Amino acid sequence: MPIFWQCDRCTACCRWPGQVRVTDEEIARMAVHLGITEEEFITGYTRVTVQRNGLALTDQADGSCVFLKGGDCRVQPVKPQQCRDFPNLWNFPGFEEKCRARPMDVPADEWRRLVQKATGRDVEPPRT
Ligand code: SF4
Ligand code: SF4
Repeated sequence: MPIFWQCDRCTACCRWPGQVRVTDEEIARMAVHLGITEEEFITGYTRVTVQRNGLALTDQADGSCVFLKGGDCRVQPVKPQQCRDFPNLWNFPGFEEKCRARPMDVPADEWRRLVQKATGRDVEPPRT
């Protein structure tokens, strides 16, 4: 059976190094959520990606994401797809040592339902 990783909302993934890429549509949604213009959002909360081919969220002084506040995400209902997709649709070797998500063996149709709920994406379950 495929494994669904149930997020524990520990926010470790909002604190480790890396970049959260954001699309134009995501910027528009987050700006509305925060009650600011897209221009204000881009100026205040984004930087050019390391690859210089798009925009990513900025970091706070301690390296955590600019939207992490008091153990919660300030844009949780409209957070970027990259955040939604981790760790079920992308992860990295050894991520289990840093992420507290709970592995659940579930039937393929349940995996699909849970992933759709967590990420908004309708994805074919991995073959096991
Ligand atoms: S946008 Fe929210 S979920 Fe994504 S890294 Fe920042 S604080 Fe975490
Ligand atoms: S995906 Fe993992 S690291 Fe990120 S908040 Fe959930 S449990 Fe924590």
